[in-house]
Amino acid sequence: MLVSSLRKSAAFGMGALALAVFAVAACGCLHQTTKTAPPAGIPNESGPDETGPIRANFSPGELTQLSETAAVAANASFARIAAQPSGSRTVENTLLAFETTVGDYRNMVQPLALMGNVHPDPAIAAEGIACQEAEGAFLTATYSRRDLFDAMQNTVPRTPEEARLLAVTVRAFEKNGLSLPDENLARVQALKDDLNRLEVRFQANLNNDSTTLEFAPGELEGLDASKIASFPETTNGTRLVSTRYPDYIVVMTGATRGEIRKAMYLAYNNRQAEENTRLLEEAIGLRQEIARELGYSTWADHRIEGRMAGNTSSVMRFLSSLQAPLLEKSLAHTRQLLEVKRSLEPAAAQVNPWDVIYLVEQTKRRKFSFDEEQVRTYFPIDRVLEGLFQLTGSLFAVRFEEVKGASAWSPDVRLFLVRNESDGTPIGHLYLDPYPREGKYGHFAAENVVLGHERDGQYVMPVAVIVANFRAPEHGRPSLLAPDEIETLFHETGHALHMLLSSAPYATLSGAECEWDFVETPSQALEEWAWDPDILVSISGKYENLSEPIPADQVERVVASRTIDLTPTYARLLANSLEDMRYHTATGAVDVTGVAHRTYEEVTGIAPHPETHQPATFEHMMGGYDAGYYGYLWSKVYALEIVDEFRRTGMTDRATGMRLRHTVLERGNMADGGLLLEEFLGRQPGAEAFFEQIGIDPVPTGPASP
Ligand SMILES: [Zn+2]
Repeated sequence: MLVSSLRKSAAFGMGALALAVFAVAACGCLHQTTKTAPPAGIPNESGPDETGPIRANFSPGELTQLSETAAVAANASFARIAAQPSGSRTVENTLLAFETTVGDYRNMVQPLALMGNVHPDPAIAAEGIACQEAEGAFLTATYSRRDLFDAMQNTVPRTPEEARLLAVTVRAFEKNGLSLPDENLARVQALKDDLNRLEVRFQANLNNDSTTLEFAPGELEGLDASKIASFPETTNGTRLVSTRYPDYIVVMTGATRGEIRKAMYLAYNNRQAEENTRLLEEAIGLRQEIARELGYSTWADHRIEGRMAGNTSSVMRFLSSLQAPLLEKSLAHTRQLLEVKRSLEPAAAQVNPWDVIYLVEQTKRRKFSFDEEQVRTYFPIDRVLEGLFQLTGSLFAVRFEEVKGASAWSPDVRLFLVRNESDGTPIGHLYLDPYPREGKYGHFAAENVVLGHERDGQYVMPVAVIVANFRAPEHGRPSLLAPDEIETLFHETGHALHMLLSSAPYATLSGAECEWDFVETPSQALEEWAWDPDILVSISGKYENLSEPIPADQVERVVASRTIDLTPTYARLLANSLEDMRYHTATGAVDVTGVAHRTYEEVTGIAPHPETHQPATFEHMMGGYDAGYYGYLWSKVYALEIVDEFRRTGMTDRATGMRLRHTVLERGNMADGGLLLEEFLGRQPGAEAFFEQIGIDPVPTGPASP
């Protein structure tokens, strides 16, 4: 096999999908309680020939121009706010005017910036990337303005909601260094601009990576003949296999030859190795400088202050408490995999990193007669979506309607309008971009391109986008989902519902704009529905005959086989969380690859291949989850508490669903996540369900739970 354009890499290929929210930004479009037309001051989002809540077709230069226009309009509004004579300063003409301006700006620019991750035209995508940079720089500059900061502080909120908005706004300014002398403030701003540029470039490198391997058909033995036939053929009769997620996973799961999986593992984990490793290390250095300027010892201290966890030590105590019991479980898991490997290769001495996904699949086949390819045939994407929308529609009293003929950035993108079931009021739009494409973001994410908020007596409707990379339809078969892909679809839909059901009055506090260690709560909660036997049946239907649901015995096997994935999934979450914390509690130069390798081996007992560069593809570290990856595990505690409540009342119980909608999903960041959760549960959350799912005893030393 040959590797062409070996440039970048991704997570240590543990089978579990990388779950991400894009840096969920603020708003943009219009949804609301009574409205449909954009309020005055916001240009119509759609172009003349477009239908849909956001524009998707642009001529060269247009994205840039629209982004600049948004900045000019916002700056003019800021100038008016700053110029307000102090005697006439009010919440309305200052705090709320600022909030509306920021909301309008974000809601105009976010949909443009999205094009950087999804647009098929490389020139337009490049402009989208530039919009991402411009947005970052604009917001940094805005929240570094002393005149605006002083103006905010001279307003007196009239309601608890305004007090919440003021507190969050003032904290955003303070986090940017507004308590510093002007000279240091300017320095922080410059460092943040540099950091933003590095982060945007890191992601763009991955989007544009085209690492491809070339295999003779015989080398791909173990894969379905139809799968092999779907890879592009060269004139020599060899097949080209990309390192995009669906291709990667199909080879790692099915290829019987270890050297083929190794080649794929090395290529995947070396994408953009050189360039992105450098960018990440540079970013960590800049973050250290910013933290120091702001008076924090480490970047983690700066980031974690004000979140649920409160401080770095409570995060480290939480993560450390999981380490020993998870290592024990990981070692036992690896011993099981080694047994399976020895049954195939009697002389095998160890489980290599490129064996794990394959051996897990083999274990599932033996232990549970589980054949993923066979299971997929019961889950064509349309059937799963229909079932998912029915389920969540029934839980939260909404309905999803597909908007046919809507214009989008690619013909396979789908648009849904979400309405309240009670009176049919439209409440939000959801885009689903399901399949891989050249130049597209390569994993799974949900992005709030338009944040819901009140404006001029109307509610601006949120727009959420799920960017996915499912296996595309092939050979007359629709896209067929595996159980872990269904879980991922549920996860991203959990994020989307958090965004779409928001009724928060302010864009800044809307939907998923909440504490970063709470944001994965609704998404990870919804994952659990994907493993409920009744739900699985209800979203299934053989693709050749949709009225044939998955048989009960197969469902049992699917659910039982999940237990095999739990240990490696939790171990990967812990390894990546510790890796992140080690990067961001350091105070000097960091060798990210060295830290990643050591941490991974320490947590799982398996050493990554020394010639891999996982950090170069660890998108979370350059996409808002820096000193925040622990949030997956932290939020999981709360997510499983929510699910426990449904297990008591029924997984399809509308009363509990509506309680979750009203107490958590609609509220966005109008109160701390912990308080919202307490309101939902009627008690303080505990961590029992979390420990039970991992299969370990709660650790008595230290606060093992958040
Ligand atoms: Zn997520």
